[in-house]
Amino acid sequence: MPKAIEALDILRKRLPTAFPVRLGKPLPKDCEDYSTAKFSGASYILRLRPNLSEGELQDAIVHEYAHFRSWGLLQAQTYDHGPHWGIEYALVYCELIGSS
Ligand SMILES: [Zn+2]
Repeated sequence: MPKAIEALDILRKRLPTAFPVRLGKPLPKDCEDYSTAKFSGASYILRLRPNLSEGELQDAIVHEYAHFRSWGLLQAQTYDHGPHWGIEYALVYCELIGSS
């Protein structure tokens, strides 16, 4: 599993999103979430907790990138983990695991 910046570079090329994905300011170290995903109006913002293990980082990137992919042009900021998100999760997972 590549680091966050490399992982996003790989995903941007192989699984494009409707809006650019950018890394936002790191979350506080004591945040209970590993990561957050937001739509800014012009781009998707991924924020990560700085002290994640490699496995946690992988989980966080795959999870949030699947949200960006499933939101698409709807620009929805829902956190629904339904079938569409699940399919995107599988695609993102395969791309990242296949690249390491
Ligand atoms: Zn989620």
